[in-house]
Amino acid sequence: MATKEFKPKLAPEHCRFRLKVRESKIHRWGVFADEAIPPRRRIMEYTGEMISRRETKRRADGQELIYLFTVDSYWCKDGSVGGSGAEFINHCCEPNVEARVVDRRIYYHSLREIAAGEELTIDYCFAKDVEKHVCQCGARNCRGTINLLK
Ligand SMILES: [Zn+2]
Repeated sequence: MATKEFKPKLAPEHCRFRLKVRESKIHRWGVFADEAIPPRRRIMEYTGEMISRRETKRRADGQELIYLFTVDSYWCKDGSVGGSGAEFINHCCEPNVEARVVDRRIYYHSLREIAAGEELTIDYCFAKDVEKHVCQCGARNCRGTINLLK
């Protein structure tokens, strides 16, 4: 269960639509649309501290909750440091949001129309050769793991 002391927040300067963070059925916290979002629109930027491959490995080691987004083969962004709130967007095997990396900045776009009140989700696409994470997204085509199968 989510702890009461911790209050996740969104940075409005990185959001182009009205969004809210609240408890999610998928996992802990989630980000929800607070107004309808048309398809193929930039919703928000994923911000965080830019860290090297070595530092990424150090931070990921043994952590249960990590907010790391792989930018390229060397850099990662750690959303737990200076994150816009995009780091609270949960994984789903049938997502309504996708990430686009442009000049090492990460932008989240809508894949389809998202209704007010709907939770935003993205496919984390964890590599198949790293530790397996069970998925409980509840989508019809859920692959059972957050990792890619191939
Ligand atoms: Zn799933």
